[in-house]
Order: sequence, then C-alpha cells, then structure tokens
Amino acid sequence: MKTLNDFNFENKKALIRVDFNVPLNENFEVTDATRIISAKPTIIKILEDGGSCILMSHLGRPKGVQDEFSLKHIENKVEDILGVEVKFVPDCVGSDVETAAANLEPGQILLLENLRFYKEEKEGDKDFAEKLSKLGDIYVNDAFGTAHRAHASTTVVAEFFPENKCFGSLLAQEIESIEKVMETGEKPVLAVLGGAKVSSKITIIENILDKVDHLIIGGGMSFTFVKAQGGKIGNSICEDDKMDLALDILKQAKEKNVQIHIPVDVIAADDFSNDANTQILDINAIPDGWEGVDAGPKSREIFHNVVMASKTILWNGPLGVFEMESFAGGTIALGDSIAESTKNGAFSLVGGGDSVAAVKQFGFADKVSYVSTGGGAMLESLEGKTLPGIAAILD
Ligand code: AMP
Repeated sequence: MKTLNDFNFENKKALIRVDFNVPLNENFEVTDATRIISAKPTIIKILEDGGSCILMSHLGRPKGVQDEFSLKHIENKVEDILGVEVKFVPDCVGSDVETAAANLEPGQILLLENLRFYKEEKEGDKDFAEKLSKLGDIYVNDAFGTAHRAHASTTVVAEFFPENKCFGSLLAQEIESIEKVMETGEKPVLAVLGGAKVSSKITIIENILDKVDHLIIGGGMSFTFVKAQGGKIGNSICEDDKMDLALDILKQAKEKNVQIHIPVDVIAADDFSNDANTQILDINAIPDGWEGVDAGPKSREIFHNVVMASKTILWNGPLGVFEMESFAGGTIALGDSIAESTKNGAFSLVGGGDSVAAVKQFGFADKVSYVSTGGGAMLESLEGKTLPGIAAILD
C-alpha cells in the first residue's frame, strides 16, 4: 500500500483528489468544515516536502455548470484552515487550467472548479481523466467519501500514474481503521449495528459474522428479529419480509460462534413524537398502540457490559430515534460506554451516516479512536467490498 511517505514531493506537483463536498448555508458559508480539516495533513506534508498541490473535488449534485455549486465559495475557508494562500481556477480541465498548474511554484496550492460540472466525471470518462492527469506528477487520493465511486477523478485517473500514485493520510487512516476491525483487531471484537432497517444492513451483517465475536443488533432493526422469534412488538417498525432472513442470521451466528445481543427491553411510546407518553416494556411484550423507540435500561446495562469487555469495537447506527431528545438516551448511553471502553484501551471505530451524526451531536467524537469521514464508502467497506478508488491505487 503506497502512502505519502513513499514519495518525496520536492519540486513535484501533487494532483490530490480531496473530498471538499461540505455543507453550505444560504450565504454560501461552510457549516461543517470537518472534511477540509481532515485533508490538511496530506496537503501540509506535500508542501513541507517542497511540492505544490492541485486540489480537485466535487461539491453537491450540480446539473451542468451551476454557480451555487462552485468551489469558489469555499476558497477562503480552505485558505483559513490550511493557513496558506489558495489560488482558484474556474474550471478543472483545459488549457487555462493546465497553464495555472504549470505555473505553480513549490509551496503553492491551486483549487480547481467542481469536477461534477462535467458529466464525464461521474461517467468515469477516460478522456476526461486523462485531461486531469496532465495537471500533476503524482496522483494522491485522499477522498474516502467518494472511494466507492468509479468516477474519473477517484479511480480512472489513477491509470495515468502507473507508478506515481498513493493514498493520502486520511484515506490511509480510514483503510487502517477498517482493517483493525475486520482483520487485525484484538479480540474480543464487537460490532454494534443499529438504525432503522435490517434490509439496508443485511450484507454488512452477513460479512461481519465472520469477523466478530459479539454483535449487538439495536434500534429499529431489532424488532424484525424479535417478531421472527414470536415476540409481540406492537406498532414497532418491522420488515415482515425479512423475518426468515433474521432467523437465518441467528442460526448462522450460532454456527459461527458469534454471540448476538438484542435489546431485552425498550422505551415504548404511544406516538412517534418527542412528547408522546412512554413506558418501559419487555421488548417481546409490546401491546398494540405502542412502539419501541429506544433501548430500555436493562438493555443499556447488558450492552455496557459487552462493550466494556471488548477490545475492538465498531459502531454503526443509533439504538433509538436519537433525533428526538426523549429517545436519544440509549444511543447516548452506548456512546458513553464506548468512550469508557476506549479510555481503557479498546480500539473504537464509528462509521456510516447517522452514528457519525450522533457521535458529533453528543460530543463523543474525541472520545472514540476514529470517526470515519465516509458514509456509503464505510458501509461498502463493511460489506467486504474492495472500493474502486482504493483498488485503483493498489493496482
Ligand atoms: P440507518 O440510516 O439505517 O442507520 O437508520 C437511522 C435511523 O434509524 C435514525 O433516523 C433513527 O431515528 C432510526 N431508528 C432507530 N431506532 C428506531 C426505532 N426503534 N424506531 C424507528 N426508527 C428508529
């Protein structure tokens, strides 16, 4: 696996695929700069080597050229975060861009316009990728958030740098974190999967059963398992057509010696709203008119003990409807347990969509070992897929 440390960037132009797909408000101000901050170590290392950086990214889902999706809106923010002047060029391919890239001096940074202003980017067009490749000497992929896409700038462009390509430090860290959970992690290894639906996590569960010693299945997903085993779940969210699959997963887990932990009790609500009436119920005895919306106290304690006994922990998906304050307690308790276990020496990785949001919202981001920057890319990695953006560098 080639990383930045395999190259000396002195007098070299690094063409870096970053993920600057950041959220903007109506005044085009960046509201969460995590992705820009995450790219900083790679950029600074190259500049310190005596190289220059050509940064390319997408922003949003433009249809052709649309000013609101221009990367010019983030130029100042990137400059602030890096502490280095950033030049912006209002295109990403063509002679003007090539001239701007050619004129870059060591220590300088050039930010290209939104790659997705060209449909060729998402199509993975080879000619477009070749045009991009003309801009730099070494290709660096540091965009984990798009590593699961075979786009021109994330995958195809690597073909034009058969020797001179590598992972940036963010992408390398993402890969190492996933490996720590899936391959090299100290046992016992625990995965906590929560969230709404079994159907969106089936492939992950099946893949992960070969990797972990314990699996906590929480959140809305758990009710399909409970109902499949004959429990009464009232109005709780359930996928009836996935009940056979749930039973099969339980059987597979037994064969593979994986201990599955499903909540034993829930906070049940009489309405899907923050100020609904609530009561604590056994998870398999929920009357009609009530639905399970969060993990109950006994479940939280059981999960706490499993988490504390684990040396490697993966967390994907909330344990309840955490967006509503009244039903966030189970997710917060789990975050607390994972933070405590991490403090005791466990390695913890949080990844995939809503759990990252929860971890940030409740202040756990600094208390776990690693928070992944990629939603879909993380989920596909957990499914056991080799992401095209990663394969292109390994090739
Ligand atoms: P996912 O995107 O699959 O990780 O699902 C995250 C969503 O699952 C969040 O929006 C949660 O509100 C939701 N969720 C978690 N537990 C429950 C539950 N018991 N009932 C309904 N939705 C839930």
